[in-house]
Amino acid sequence: MEKFLPYGRQEISEEDIRAVTEVLKSDWLTTGPMVPKFEAAFSEFTKAPHSVAVSSGTAALHAAMFALDIKAGDEVIVPSLTFAATANAVVYQGGTPVFTEIKPADLLIDPNDVEKRITKRTKAIVAVDYAGNPCDYDSLKSIASKHGVALVADACHAIGGNYHGKPVGTLADISCFSFHPVKHITTAEGGMVTAMKEEYAARAKLFRNHGITTDHRERSEKGLLNYEMVELGFNYRLNDILCALGLSQLSKLKEWVARRNEIAKKYRELFRGNELISCLAECPGVYNAYHLFVVKVDFARAAITREKLYLKLKENKIGMSFHYPLVHLHPYYRKKFQTKEGALPITEAENSKIISLPMYPGLTNQDVSRISEVLINLLNQNG
Ligand SMILES: *Cc1c(COP(=O)(O)O)cnc(C)c1O
Repeated sequence: MEKFLPYGRQEISEEDIRAVTEVLKSDWLTTGPMVPKFEAAFSEFTKAPHSVAVSSGTAALHAAMFALDIKAGDEVIVPSLTFAATANAVVYQGGTPVFTEIKPADLLIDPNDVEKRITKRTKAIVAVDYAGNPCDYDSLKSIASKHGVALVADACHAIGGNYHGKPVGTLADISCFSFHPVKHITTAEGGMVTAMKEEYAARAKLFRNHGITTDHRERSEKGLLNYEMVELGFNYRLNDILCALGLSQLSKLKEWVARRNEIAKKYRELFRGNELISCLAECPGVYNAYHLFVVKVDFARAAITREKLYLKLKENKIGMSFHYPLVHLHPYYRKKFQTKEGALPITEAENSKIISLPMYPGLTNQDVSRISEVLINLLNQNG
């Protein structure tokens, strides 16, 4: 009997388990030495000058919006083809997300459309490296600097990726990462903010610790009894147990991203020339981190709907997924921001075609062949 192939899954090694149990036996379970250790290793990996560990990718996005001082009346340009958290972070701060179109070939934010949506109120652009493919940062950076707005990367899909020789994490003013188990490396729940400017990193650090200027360990080391809260922050800390897990996972990242690229290459070979399935465009000069393997299906001509395909693949022990239901069409956004269908015709049309196929380093070439075979058969079956 075949084993079920989910769309994504973590890999935990004996080394990871050892790293975690060592912290459990140590003095510091949180705000301890593993936090700066993980941050330093993350900066070394991404070449980002500053890294701040937080409790989730969502917390990282929220901290980015706080660092940029987004507030009521401010607009932030975001794609709708993303996880809701990208836009929610803007709303947490009282700002207004302004949804922008994507390019049909790679489903990444379209710089021309972004520029059209800039107003006097625009404070930032959030680029989502959808499926692991870094956005067109050269164009986005020049638009951002021309209009004096900040550029944020929601790089939750793209750690380990690279854009014209520059690593993901250094491509925007602030970049946000997630360590949820379906992402490249995991701490169960966790995230990271990387910043090019020290000022943004300092604000993110303040924000993750209630807006208090010192943490427990700093006060203990410096012999300080008192402390001050200077901003309204949250408890968004990533504890030492999880930082140790993240540090251990990070040592595998390069290898895992390489394996994801091999899997993607295999999928692309197997789908080449297929009339019903098309893969997303490969961008020259870019190293895709392949968080997801997304394909577009011509459902108008296929023998099956997307919902039925999902159920049939499940019967065949294959975990298809869908990234994502569009943010501007969620009931919350329709109600709060009066967004509606038809607002983003390109995004909406592309969204009706996409599916995500299993993608994680543990997938074998045989698994990829089986997935492709079953998918092609289901799309071509009559009745
Ligand atoms: C996973 C993800 C997030 C949120 O990360 P969490 O760690 O689950 O909070 C935000 N944006 C994108 C694009 C993501 O994929």
